[in-house]
Amino acid sequence: MRRIGHFIDGVETEGVAAGFQDVFNPATGEVQAQVALASAADLEAAVASAAAAQPKWAATNPQRRARVFFNFVGLINQQMDELAALLSSEHGKTVEDAKGDIQRGLEVAEFVAGAPHLMKGEFTDGAGPGIDMYSMRQPVGIGAGITPFNFPAMIPLWMLSPAIAAGNAFILKPSERDPSVPVRLAQLAIEAGLPKGILNVVHGGKEVVDGILDHEKIEAISFVGSTPIARYVYGTAAAQGKRVQAFGGAKNHMVIMPDADMEKAADALIGAGYGSAGERCMAISVAVPVGAETADRIVAALKPRVEKLKVGPASDKASEMGPVITKASQERIRNLISSGVSQGADLVLDGRDFSLQGYENGYFVGPTLFDRVTPDMDIYKEEIFGPVLSVVRSKTYDEALQLVMDNPYGNGTAIFTRDGDAARDFAARVNVGMVGVNVPVPVPLAYHSFGGWKASAFGDLNQHGMDSIKFWTRTKTVTARWPSGIKDGAELQMPTMA
Ligand code: NAD
Repeated sequence: MRRIGHFIDGVETEGVAAGFQDVFNPATGEVQAQVALASAADLEAAVASAAAAQPKWAATNPQRRARVFFNFVGLINQQMDELAALLSSEHGKTVEDAKGDIQRGLEVAEFVAGAPHLMKGEFTDGAGPGIDMYSMRQPVGIGAGITPFNFPAMIPLWMLSPAIAAGNAFILKPSERDPSVPVRLAQLAIEAGLPKGILNVVHGGKEVVDGILDHEKIEAISFVGSTPIARYVYGTAAAQGKRVQAFGGAKNHMVIMPDADMEKAADALIGAGYGSAGERCMAISVAVPVGAETADRIVAALKPRVEKLKVGPASDKASEMGPVITKASQERIRNLISSGVSQGADLVLDGRDFSLQGYENGYFVGPTLFDRVTPDMDIYKEEIFGPVLSVVRSKTYDEALQLVMDNPYGNGTAIFTRDGDAARDFAARVNVGMVGVNVPVPVPLAYHSFGGWKASAFGDLNQHGMDSIKFWTRTKTVTARWPSGIKDGAELQMPTMA
């Protein structure tokens, strides 16, 4: 059985593991590897390695640090096919989708190759008589990132790239369900020229996360995962005086106005609702058509498209959608679908009994479509995180907007319309962090920042973009007055500063 170790001080190691956990192939249900779970001693070793390496890295000029990222980006591109295959084998998403996962992380590594510019401070010449004032950005020291299973390349790269480019050492605690790609990324970073100790990876669940939250030498923590854990991580680490950003779950709505192009809106909903089996924090899980006719038209356009979706393992190039991550997740999604039926929603397409010859033990759920869902139903209230799209009918634009506004989550949302005024009003008023106008999954590019509102994010700085540089650095402001020397008195005398 293949073993996946931690990555500490530049080498992969099982350390003094507290135990091992099975890593499954979600398409077959088979155990394909075992991942080491970090003990307190393993975390301590990672912190010690980070602490030893960080001062020299911080003192390395930002241009040299940036060059490591140029190499890193090159190596990831070279290894794209292998990384994507490895990612798919543990996550279950299609290989093309896995490449997208890597690509959107890689773009943050490209962004931070501009570190020399991004790290520049501010300067005021003559803030007072003979006084200059300037600020500089300095790394926080040791940062840590705790990441979810659904983007095992992108989200680690979102965090480690700005943290490291800014001069920090970084400890990554990836999801224990698909841990191989994060370890590969750490190996590639070393190959790219990163000194050992600047990027360490430790595996595990709550125990090692608690160790990170409590560790006095870890100064800043970035978390992405479900809302209850995000809330816990934020509260626990902030109470200990650490800098924290914690991103949580989502329930993203797409409003479809009567004037939208229904065919395009339906195509958009297919990708946004069922891509990656709905396991994206920016997936659209609720479609909100405005008006009964719009609702009838969008459901009619969706049904044949959903029926045609090709569900299968990532190893089959024809697959458009893979399995979900675990058996428990499959059960949970099936039970939620059943609750939708018993609570009175119209089940247009039912994915509960989906089965694939040769993959009967895989964690597949067929694409599921509900119509006439209401906000009191569990399928509306819960983040399903599976291939289930709910249509909530609204009578007016205002009612649709209010529905989005009243939802406790605020990660992403979209409006499909040909009316610029409606789109503008929606973007201005909606209380959600990322908004799409005729764009179903509005994930900002690396040089903008990513983050939701309400229960989708705790803390005040987003992922990537300038926010990430601010998060991983402290600002120090210097007020400097230089006593007059050669300008006063005799120029031939030695100035005494007296
Ligand atoms: P999760 O919350 O179960 O796990 C996230 C991380 O927390 C993992 O590293 C895990 O090991 C750790 N963890 C799990 N239980 C813990 C506990 N009790 N105490 C401390 N740490 C614990 O999330 P997941 O199932 O891996 O990922 C899916 C969730 O992540 C969804 O809710 C999704 O919306 C969310 N997500 C959010 C964003 C975003 O940017 N807002 C992005 C991707 C995923």
